[in-house]
Amino acid sequence: MANTKYVFVTGGVSSSLGKGIIAASLAKLLQARGYRVTIQKLDPYINVDPGTLNPYEHGECYVTDDGAETDLDLGHYERFLNTPTSQANNVTTGRIYQSVIEKERRGEFLGKTVQVVPHITNEIKERIQILGKSGEYDIVITEIGGTVGDIESLPYIEAVRQLKWELGDTNALVIHLTLIPYLSAAGELKTKPTQHSVKTLMESGIKADVLVCRTEHELSDDLRRKLALFCNVKQEAVIESIDASTIYDVPNLMLEEGLDTVVLKQLVLRHDDTPNLEKWNMFLERHKNPKYEVTIGLVGKYVELQDSYKSILEAFIHAGAENEVKVNVVSIHSEYIDDNTINKKIAHLDGILVAPGFGERGIEGKIKAVQFAREHKLPFFGICLGMQMAVIEYSRNILGLKDACSAEVDEKTPHPVIDLMEEQKSVTDMGGTMRLGAWDCELVENSKVFEAYKEKLISERHRHRYEYNNNYKEQLENAGLKTTGINPRTGLVEIIEIPDHPWFVGVQYHPEYKSTVANPHPLFIAFVKAAVTYSKSNKSAKVSQGL
Ligand code: GLN
Repeated sequence: MANTKYVFVTGGVSSSLGKGIIAASLAKLLQARGYRVTIQKLDPYINVDPGTLNPYEHGECYVTDDGAETDLDLGHYERFLNTPTSQANNVTTGRIYQSVIEKERRGEFLGKTVQVVPHITNEIKERIQILGKSGEYDIVITEIGGTVGDIESLPYIEAVRQLKWELGDTNALVIHLTLIPYLSAAGELKTKPTQHSVKTLMESGIKADVLVCRTEHELSDDLRRKLALFCNVKQEAVIESIDASTIYDVPNLMLEEGLDTVVLKQLVLRHDDTPNLEKWNMFLERHKNPKYEVTIGLVGKYVELQDSYKSILEAFIHAGAENEVKVNVVSIHSEYIDDNTINKKIAHLDGILVAPGFGERGIEGKIKAVQFAREHKLPFFGICLGMQMAVIEYSRNILGLKDACSAEVDEKTPHPVIDLMEEQKSVTDMGGTMRLGAWDCELVENSKVFEAYKEKLISERHRHRYEYNNNYKEQLENAGLKTTGINPRTGLVEIIEIPDHPWFVGVQYHPEYKSTVANPHPLFIAFVKAAVTYSKSNKSAKVSQGL
């Protein structure tokens, strides 16, 4: 195809309407029609990336293969499309300004006053078009973070206005996602907030081409006509987005509403065939008709906010469907695990996952949870910090190194079984300086992980500063904690296992980032399978004991 087409997704009325899911669902439909699509997110905050944000602020920080620390919406893009994203797919105001200021210092604007318009807006336009100009995509969908009318979003909206003018209406289109609230006292859906939001967009010179309306109730024909008339869009471009029981239903809901067709028509692209969603629907079928149920404890310290562990929760959905099992994930706050509470919190579970994390808070609870899983042969999956806790637990309770710890938690520990990585010792800046992105790992045959991956060399994404201390490797191995995955270039231990346990695996990397609907992650599949086995044998034991 000659030129890339651009779709912009803006939001109005309220935040948290799910622009990311709408963008991902549209992309899925376009991909299922054979188009090459990617999605980009522009975030209006001043942090250069979300890597330095507390998960309570912004949910999970997602990591791409090329080591970008990004917004969690990129996770949705990858999970829906099964194609990797990169640094170019997430741009923040901080990064835009950083880049413009660096150019100014290099003298690239010599003689000129550097201003929001045109310098910041040009930089935004360039970033939007980088993906399109790569020649890899027919359609680039750009999601503008925030809500129309926010001060922070203005330069983005202006950049979109200019691009739309430059590219023309058949090459660029704006979807506006809004909310149609239901007033129960009046028993009515209300369109006024949407009218105002479209007007706000119009004041910035942008006419919305398509309205996607989040709603708890169906939109009547009358209401659709009213929205079309007052918001200045074609009636077929008023798309209902009704609350769904799972985000994975949204592509089909958008298909029924014809979102993809409206978009393709305006962009003058082929639209008479139907999207091939066969595999997607097979996944949905399995997801909705589980044959068994297991309960997994997610042990972490950011559990109050669901978004903190988004990719892990989604990976369980993929792996559950693959096993035809419903995975109930219960959050367990690691700060409240101690000798008195542990039985009540963990004994009834079919497996535990000890989550990634940073700092000291909740560490001892995590170590207790690991010990419980090890001693009770409960399936255990440790991710990043979770893996490090397993090493500490083994060192303390099996090797007898009572004060073993991670140097992150106790700098003066006599046994830093988890230590700061050598290359981190000279690092002073906090932003973007961890060991990030995809690294190779060689698996040991005859291990749980090899059984799961069925290949020797894997590549997984990382985000950490501390590592397994190889000085303790021999001792730990001899005592039964095997290292079954190692970086072939640096010797860094990536995976630990206890062979004499039904399923006890800890990984230094983040497998959850690579789990998609089309490619559920092998370790999550294996962990869920182990939880099913555990649950079934537990049940039959209870039956035989007459309980
Ligand atoms: N805090 C640990 C480290 O930096 C683990 C990081 C994580 O769990 N992502 O090594």
